[in-house]
Amino acid sequence: MSNPLLKVENLTKHYALGTSLLRKSGPMVRAVEDVSFCVEAGETLCIVGESGCGKSTVARLLMRIVEPTGGRVLVDGNDIAGLDARALRAWRRRMQMVFQDPYSSLNPRLTAGQIITEPVENFERLSRKQRHALAADLLQRVGMRPEMMHRFPSELSGGQRQRLGIARALSLEPSLIIADEAVSALDVSVQAQILNLLQDLQQQMGIAFVFISHDLSVVEHIGHRVAVMYLGRIVELAPCEALFAKPVHPYTEALIAAAPVPDPTRVRSEVPVEGEVPSPINPPSGCAFHPRCPLAVERCRIETPPLVPMPDGRIVACHVRAPTKERSTLP
Ligand code: ADP
Ligand code: MG
Repeated sequence: MSNPLLKVENLTKHYALGTSLLRKSGPMVRAVEDVSFCVEAGETLCIVGESGCGKSTVARLLMRIVEPTGGRVLVDGNDIAGLDARALRAWRRRMQMVFQDPYSSLNPRLTAGQIITEPVENFERLSRKQRHALAADLLQRVGMRPEMMHRFPSELSGGQRQRLGIARALSLEPSLIIADEAVSALDVSVQAQILNLLQDLQQQMGIAFVFISHDLSVVEHIGHRVAVMYLGRIVELAPCEALFAKPVHPYTEALIAAAPVPDPTRVRSEVPVEGEVPSPINPPSGCAFHPRCPLAVERCRIETPPLVPMPDGRIVACHVRAPTKERSTLP
């Protein structure tokens, strides 16, 4: 069997806070705890969860912008921690990021054409003519007219700037794009256009996506599989359709109930997400969701539930909905 494009094993990131010369060990932020998943070539894996649950930290760990406290990231079966500078550069070339706010990541003094050809020019010298042809091609791929290459970011709309961010990510023909809240700052109608664009590009170019969003309703139309995170951990990972048709973890259920869904045929759950997300500095004992969970029982306060495979292929960490004891007695 061939290796998946990306494999994440037990990834963990703790940040030490408030350390000083006098105080060597301060409190710990448990940003990411024991996260594992795979991404196959050409697939879209979505990561959703409320703000602060560790989504961006996972993205930074994948790019090796931050070092993990534990666990590994494997690319085509190779641990990225073992890559030398050259191999890491090659990996970063195959893996590109698109951010929430393209404006702050686009150099205001460069034209659109210069912005999207810059990544390629970091690797090879382009003639004027090559640069022009590349910029025109990339703009067309993201649904913009080639003349736009002469515009500055300030002369473009929010949606056009996000298209530009995507064109820049495409310029190096990546195998994987990590989109961190890439449509969160856009109007709903523009969001839909950008999501369609990403899907078209995936079909044309076979690009895999790790699509990160705090907004569950955004991922429904783009995801193949969805990982739901709560306080640094994956609590449910399921094929997209199955997740929306029948959420199993009470947190997933609550998120779906809270998301604005324009689908009148969907039966709305009665479970709202109540209360605030607890701090990852002192996460609740046992299942971190138990203080907000309508189903919580004694065991939830004591034991952290493991991720348990369900018959339909999803995995769920919940003592009530995916109990370990009962399952082990099944044939
Ligand atoms: P999300 O993207 O889901 O909103 P993040 O991954 O940005 O969440 O953050 C997860 C947690 O880690 C948050 O509590 C955040 O404050 C904390 N965190 C992120 N980066 C750092 C850092 N460099 N130092 C300390 N804490 C951090
Ligand atoms: Mg984030």
